Amino acid sequence: MADSYQFPFPQKMIFIYNNIKSETTDFSKLCRCCMEDGDIGIYETDFQGLSLAAIIEFCTHTELALDEDLPKNICQQCFDQLTASYLFIAKYLKLQEYITKIADSQIREEIKIEVEQSDTKVLFAIIILTMKLIMFQITQKMM
Ligand SMILES: [Zn+2]
Repeated sequence: MADSYQFPFPQKMIFIYNNIKSETTDFSKLCRCCMEDGDIGIYETDFQGLSLAAIIEFCTHTELALDEDLPKNICQQCFDQLTASYLFIAKYLKLQEYITKIADSQIREEIKIEVEQSDTKVLFAIIILTMKLIMFQITQKMM
């Protein structure tokens, strides 16, 4: 990577983060997410049409600046976790949209059925009333 940031001290650096010890001479080659060695560029690598940087921003609600002096790589393990997280969040959001539509249409369907049922009740009431009237007229004529 031509524009990779070179840490000002060329000697080996040792980082201990979360009990993981990292040794490097190039700060920019560390994993942005766990400080282990990372060789997957977050700006150069695409996943499902998005750069890994965009996916990190999407999943973490943070903004990454291209010119910041922070590692621009991630390791394979973090890549796997990141893409799995992204797929899960994207799946969840897509499904919420879909089931909300279903719930809306189900409510509409329930209202429609209720209206149809009340229409049927009115119709039956009219038929019964008409039949009672006819029966009444018949019995009146017989008298
Ligand atoms: Zn990592």
